[in-house]
Amino acid sequence: MRIAMIGTGYVGLVSGACFSEFGTEVVCVDKDSSKIERLHRNEIPIYEPGLDDLVARNVEAGRLSFTTDLKAAVKDADAVFIAVGTPTRRGGGHADLSYVYAAAREIAEAIEGYTVIVTKSTVPVGTGREVERVIRETRPDADFDVVSNPEFLREGSAIEDFMRPDRVVIGAETDRSREAMRQLYRALFLIETPIMFTSLETSELTKYAANTFLAMKITFINEIADLCEKVGANVHDVAKGIGLDGRIGKKFLHPGPGYGGSCFPKDTMALVQTAQDVGAPLRIIETVVDINAKRKRQMADRIIAFAGGDVAGKTIAVLGLTFKPNTDDMRDSPSLDIVPALQAAGATVRAFDPEGMHEAARLLPGVVYCKDAYEAMDGADVAALVTEWNQFRNLNLAKVKALLKEPALIDLRNVYSPQDMAAAGFRYESIGRPVKP
Ligand code: NAD
Repeated sequence: MRIAMIGTGYVGLVSGACFSEFGTEVVCVDKDSSKIERLHRNEIPIYEPGLDDLVARNVEAGRLSFTTDLKAAVKDADAVFIAVGTPTRRGGGHADLSYVYAAAREIAEAIEGYTVIVTKSTVPVGTGREVERVIRETRPDADFDVVSNPEFLREGSAIEDFMRPDRVVIGAETDRSREAMRQLYRALFLIETPIMFTSLETSELTKYAANTFLAMKITFINEIADLCEKVGANVHDVAKGIGLDGRIGKKFLHPGPGYGGSCFPKDTMALVQTAQDVGAPLRIIETVVDINAKRKRQMADRIIAFAGGDVAGKTIAVLGLTFKPNTDDMRDSPSLDIVPALQAAGATVRAFDPEGMHEAARLLPGVVYCKDAYEAMDGADVAALVTEWNQFRNLNLAKVKALLKEPALIDLRNVYSPQDMAAAGFRYESIGRPVKP
């Protein structure tokens, strides 16, 4: 089979490369010509571990190619995946579907013969039906089915997530389209991945229900962490104590500065809007959205309090800027709230991030960007660990002590142990943990 992947971003490029690894011929399309030019030069436009080798191998084998010419790619394709962005619409929480519908119109003009059109982008319930209508309106003669196949991969472990997913959800309503999707995911059927076939609406909603549930779980443990601080309990032990219960599960119970990234913030808001629009409000998720937005700002206040309450004229070293390690993605990262709040309070921010600084420089002006964590901490009053990159897990504490004006570290990811830090002579604060066990 042949696939055209429309949108060569975090999801499109990884999915396209993985499908080609399964043996399918894939053409990845993007309207951003600089992205396609870089791919033609064998450069990967995003940071994702293992992606360079995967792409190079499949390009070499002649199964994976890149183009800006959507029509040529779509014309010969048996299946066309829409993997364009669905950011938050300006002035509200709805998803902006303009990229999806624009792609659908372009695809409609180009399809030849029976084609399965698959929405891989995260799209609100009803979008698949609308994509179908748009295509039918543009090309009344076209022979096609629309399928929903949301993507559950995580940045930083995207290839493994795509190749060995917990499940694949496919909203397909005709035998022909179900059969085509079975063929495309043959490699996963062989390793007995649970593959669910549902209606379009069920598939679309499953993706949002998954993301909002995970956002809720993070928010829950963040609030429990705050409570732990007030009552002298240890949030990690509480998390373990509840997580060992199979009904709760161990994952996603790590406290921090609030969820960020390109999915949870926008998807929680979009589902809140969908639910309000149809008169079935999700009050629990409305509250999650509100708590998380406030939490990011509270983190800046915590850092300021840690630095003595007044940071005017002080320097704060920020370690990590991306919303999580192993990605260069800065979208909705907590640092985008924290750093400007520190600057607004009069602080100078010196920062280092292993992969995010190129994008951060665009989004966070006035920051002194450094070549490593030690340079960021050189002469700073206090240090704040914001993203748990491996590089920050084993800092040379004697060196850190010598570089900082005062040995003081606030750790928003609980990377260090309070006891070890006290023993090393640091003033140390983390989330939801007492200094004594
Ligand atoms: P992205 O911004 O990295 O990539 C989208 C790409 O689509 C861009 O390169 C853009 O230039 C291109 N594009 C837009 N319109 C186009 C058109 N008409 N023709 C060709 N190219 C076009 O976005 P992403 O992070 O890959 O996310 C894509 C979708 O997948 C979103 O709906 C997102 O919610 C969902 N998703 C993302 C992740 C993630 O971790 N990033 C995980 C699961 C699902």
